[in-house]
Amino acid sequence: MLELDLTAELDRQLSVCNACRYCEGFCAMFGAAQLRTAIGSNDVAYLANLCHDCRMCFDACMFTPPHAFAVNIPAAMSAARVETYARYAKPAVLRRLLATPRNAALAAVAAGIVVVALAIALWAGVAALWTPQLGAGAFYRVLPYLAMVVPALAVTVFGAACVVLGVRHYARDIGGGVRFVTAPALWTALGEAVTLVYLKGGGAGCYDEGRGSGRRRFYHGLVFWGVLADFAATCSAAVLQDFVHQLPPYPLLSVPVVLGTGGGIALAIGAAGLTLVKRRSDARPAEPRMIALDNAFLGLLEVVALTGLALLAFRSTAAMGSLLAVHLGAVAGLFVTAPYSKFVHFVYRLVALVKNASERTGGSS
Ligand code: SF4
Repeated sequence: MLELDLTAELDRQLSVCNACRYCEGFCAMFGAAQLRTAIGSNDVAYLANLCHDCRMCFDACMFTPPHAFAVNIPAAMSAARVETYARYAKPAVLRRLLATPRNAALAAVAAGIVVVALAIALWAGVAALWTPQLGAGAFYRVLPYLAMVVPALAVTVFGAACVVLGVRHYARDIGGGVRFVTAPALWTALGEAVTLVYLKGGGAGCYDEGRGSGRRRFYHGLVFWGVLADFAATCSAAVLQDFVHQLPPYPLLSVPVVLGTGGGIALAIGAAGLTLVKRRSDARPAEPRMIALDNAFLGLLEVVALTGLALLAFRSTAAMGSLLAVHLGAVAGLFVTAPYSKFVHFVYRLVALVKNASERTGGSS
């Protein structure tokens, strides 16, 4: 159960919204709330993840603090989302990582770097950390292929299993016994997620830095497409290696390097831009625990992007071994903490969008 206080508080605030209904015109969350006569804890888990935190309802509302009604939907929804991530985290014992995201990220990256550096020292000798390696297979002379792939696969499978179990539990709760995941609803939700339509905030964008702007949507898009490009770069490198039998490092104009460089630059700019926008934004509709999650996750993405770009730029120099340890350590930190970080927001949000698409068509989609 989500905290009873938060459920009751959201029920109260949404009752006030009933008198106005202005935001219903541009926000799916308010439309979904109107379908409910009373808000229970599973409704809160659903509605909170339908909210994209554009904060335009805060800007538009006449009942925000210091008004006695004290309506602050974005802050309450953010608090409820943090509780959703903790409530459905698997295994439950690791949910406490969500309470200290910065420390968890720092510890995971530091441990990752130490483990990779030790593996390099054991495999190729300590000097490999500062000895240039050139030509095909240069990376694998520093660290063998299997030592990179097997731990990466193990962490990915573990993380994916944890997220899937949590989200399945979440979908069961918000579905209330009704099956809502259908192909048309999934298709509609994917379209809404890819276009970040709810970050348009009704047209003016998100309420940040004191006004509506498209900055958050733009930077979020860079992060999203940057991650996808980096993933595509990894897949294309695997194809070149395993099917064309070309070992890395690849030429600057090869598919993996072009995709990886473009993705890395987009990710670095997007993560830095989002961090800056959040820092400069009005703090009143923000929730401190969500801000902490945002900052830790964006910081991790920034480190992964910058170390990846540095590794590409200096791969023919004596710094290659050390940069490889730092980059792989940062990637390991990102993947290990993924199920207990802001990373999970896109999965919960997608499921909420699927339910919303299904609800809008009376369950027929
Ligand atoms: S912050 Fe934006 S998405 Fe969230 S409830 Fe308000 S208007 Fe809707």
